[in-house]
Amino acid sequence: MARLEIITGPMFSGKSEEVIKRLKKPGYKNKKILVVKPSEDTRTARETFEMITKDKYLASYKNLKTKTIDNYEGLKEAVKASSPEILVIDEAQFLGLWLIDAVKEILESNSENEDFVIIVTGLYKDFLRNPFGPIPELILQTEPDEITILSAVCDKCEKRPAQSTYKIGGSRNLQKEQGDKDIYQARCRICHKLPE
Ligand SMILES: [Zn+2]
Repeated sequence: MARLEIITGPMFSGKSEEVIKRLKKPGYKNKKILVVKPSEDTRTARETFEMITKDKYLASYKNLKTKTIDNYEGLKEAVKASSPEILVIDEAQFLGLWLIDAVKEILESNSENEDFVIIVTGLYKDFLRNPFGPIPELILQTEPDEITILSAVCDKCEKRPAQSTYKIGGSRNLQKEQGDKDIYQARCRICHKLPE
């Protein structure tokens, strides 16, 4: 049976680091790996693509490819072109709910392949703690083999674990707003409630 792993948590919780750690599992070095992300994400320094490129150990992986995708067709084409054994879908919150059917279809078509793994990573809630993107529903509809919810360190109290993203700038009305520490922080449950 193909395997589905989900890595989620707020911004700054180390999701990219966790993806990289998983790609370094014994036996993965010679596997065909495809990492996809939506083209609309433009964060730089912390980007998984960027971190993968800079990683010295992953640089020795000859079959690791990265590709940007925007829709179901794009994902299907990318998968068909490189027939990966490990498929990483990064920044899934920026992809539509179509991702749920896409993941189901890819899992189904690889159902006999014991070694096939899909890793989906991204936020599951927005800065108002509302469901964000396909991950919440993906969890319900696909019954993943493993769900990892990471936490950051709260940027306000700087001591408690942070489970949510908080906005200190930008627009209160925009769920998908590009930004880094300039407009976002990680906050714990207590500090997320504090009025500014
Ligand atoms: Zn706090």
